[in-house]
Amino acid sequence: MLLLVDLDNTLVDRASAFNLWATTFVRSLGGSDLDDEWLIAADRDGYEPRESLARAIKDRFDTGLGIEDLAHALLLEHVDLLTIDPGTISALRRARSSGWKIGVVTNGSTAQQTLKIQVAGLEPYVDAVVISEAEQVKKPDPGIFAIAAKRLLADPADGWMVGDHPTADIAGGRAAGLRTGWVSRGKEWPSGMAAPDLSAPTAAEVINAVVRSDAQSR
Ligand SMILES: [Mg+2]
Repeated sequence: MLLLVDLDNTLVDRASAFNLWATTFVRSLGGSDLDDEWLIAADRDGYEPRESLARAIKDRFDTGLGIEDLAHALLLEHVDLLTIDPGTISALRRARSSGWKIGVVTNGSTAQQTLKIQVAGLEPYVDAVVISEAEQVKKPDPGIFAIAAKRLLADPADGWMVGDHPTADIAGGRAAGLRTGWVSRGKEWPSGMAAPDLSAPTAAEVINAVVRSDAQSR
């Protein structure tokens, strides 16, 4: 059994870490609450390209920092603030002890995503980490899920993809032949998109449900 899992806002709480960093950063530039909200919205949960966000910050604030320094700050400074729900660790341990192979499949830079996994202490709980920059293919391209399945010597038809992004994780995982579990974070599933096989608000709940549903189907 194969369990592929997204990293940002699935295994780790990237949103809280970024929001905390953004607040501190904006204050250091003399910004207000409105500026915090602006930066958090402009980041689009990490989906805004870093260079373009750096340029927008430079346009808005008198930072004295260059685009490259700002992009570097955006790349690494929030990583130290990442947290992981202990329930997520328990769910991963439970899945593994039931015989699941676990792979992280994440879009992003190799340096940043590797550091996040270290900071969160995730290494002991997963069998493989597949990062888009290193593989030169990113979600939702089915190719990245195929790479992860191959690395874990598993058949995608016997596997699941769990993540919070409807397109990158769920549509992508389905296109790769995986069943899908959506981490909703309290949001509504977007209308018009094919629904995931199961969903719940948190990664821990989704992973536990995947393991349970598989045990029942055997
Ligand atoms: Mg995500």
